Amino acid sequence: MAGEKILLADDNKLVVKITSAILEGAGYSVEVAWDGLEAINKAYTENPDIVILDVEMPKVSGLQVLRLLRDDNYTRDIPVVMLTGRDRPSDMFWGIKTGADAYMTKGFKPEELLEVVEQKLREGKEGRNKRDKVDVPKAELEEEWILSRVVDLLDSKLFESTLLNELGSLASAGHDYRKTLGEVLEIVARVAGNAIGGILMIGEENIVIDVEAPVAPKLVEELKGRLLNLVADYGFESLNPERVEVTVFGGANIKEDEALESTPYSFVYTPLSSQKKVIGLAMLAQRESLVFTREAQAIFGMLKNQMSIVVDNARLYEAARQLAITDGLTRIYNHRFFQEMFEKEYKRSDRYNTVFSLIMIDIDHFKKVNDTYGHLCGDEILKGLANVVKSHLRSMDILARYGGEEFVILLPETTGEEAFLAAERIREAVENYVFVGGDKGLHITVSQGVATYPSSGIHDRYDILEKADRALYEAKESGRNRTVFKD
Ligand code: GH3
Ligand code: MG
Ligand code: MG
Repeated sequence: MAGEKILLADDNKLVVKITSAILEGAGYSVEVAWDGLEAINKAYTENPDIVILDVEMPKVSGLQVLRLLRDDNYTRDIPVVMLTGRDRPSDMFWGIKTGADAYMTKGFKPEELLEVVEQKLREGKEGRNKRDKVDVPKAELEEEWILSRVVDLLDSKLFESTLLNELGSLASAGHDYRKTLGEVLEIVARVAGNAIGGILMIGEENIVIDVEAPVAPKLVEELKGRLLNLVADYGFESLNPERVEVTVFGGANIKEDEALESTPYSFVYTPLSSQKKVIGLAMLAQRESLVFTREAQAIFGMLKNQMSIVVDNARLYEAARQLAITDGLTRIYNHRFFQEMFEKEYKRSDRYNTVFSLIMIDIDHFKKVNDTYGHLCGDEILKGLANVVKSHLRSMDILARYGGEEFVILLPETTGEEAFLAAERIREAVENYVFVGGDKGLHITVSQGVATYPSSGIHDRYDILEKADRALYEAKESGRNRTVFKD
């Protein structure tokens, strides 16, 4: 242990005298700095094995010295022990936060100091060996340079906390899930210099992409491909690229352009995690540039935790929302969500003069199915029916479980005649479908009522539901397995 060099920075003569004596007595060589500037200077020029830093010093405080040391590759790995007054518990908090390896209250016993120094030297050995000795130009160590570095560093801390704040405000917004992911990307991409960014959340077949600068379509494809490869690299089940839905924000920036086509890009990425589990992958791309790569990586490093918190919140919020609008048995929308969408569509129709239609579906003699094959079998049929109906709908149509064995479909931009035809296709498909149950499978039929808006005698949206209900009743009355449209 002996012979190692300790940089002791403290402006108190008595502390320096006593501490030096203890350390030298144990065989260390001690270099003293009397203020923060001298401490920084000597950290570079004296190549110390460990630094002992007083928190309160003239010119530059111990915490600022520590920040600077931690911010520079050359000094980053030097172990630092902070010395603080007995009455300043907050020093310890900030000291540890800034990256101090240990912290001692003034008035320590000699053996305590030696024990800490010895332990930190031992732990720091690895980092120390890796440190290359570099020649720092003397000019760089002038007071002005060091002060400007302190200012830069404080600036970057301010920058960092501003960004964290910005991300933090997204965390509480909790609106549309994908939009939130897009906004996270927008913030990060903006900072990294007009890049394009993508997030893929593990376990979802969806990629959110934010485009902040003109790019060729092929870059969007490449970003998607790379994110999908990463999923496999991280050991997750790989996704079928065909099925992965891509949500793009800033799509106006995607342009067919020869110059853009031939631009090479560089990519950086980071995993996002929650409770030590990877929950997503974020990636940035920009025109090939080393500076971008370095800075984007640093920005990711700085914002990773906050990004993770934001996307995790958004994800949980979305999961809760999905649960609230989904029917537990059939996994299609529930009654409540249907009413919500129905109300919206009704208002939209009035405002923009659009048409829409409703189809009410009720299984014929379903009681008999339950009575004959059991309730569980009935449940399976409800699930199967939801799938059959869904497979005949457009993505804009809303299928919901209206009640026990009743379903409803909201068809935007659809006339009554069109809805009737759609209903007929569904009716036939159901009639021909073999449902699981019994020995050889089961057949069921459905009756359906169709209503449309605008149409006569409708004063509020409940009148539309009533019309569809009446049509359904007529379908039942006239023999079942049929569709009735009431104009
Ligand atoms: P109709 O042709 O007149 O519609 O005859 P139906 O037997 O289908 O009509 P009814 O409305 O009298 O009976 C509906 C039945 O649907 C009663 C109930 O047992 C069954 N049902 C409702 N909800 C569920 C469910 O969640 N699971 C199962 N298995 N059956 C259900
Ligand atoms: Mg019924
Ligand atoms: Mg029924």
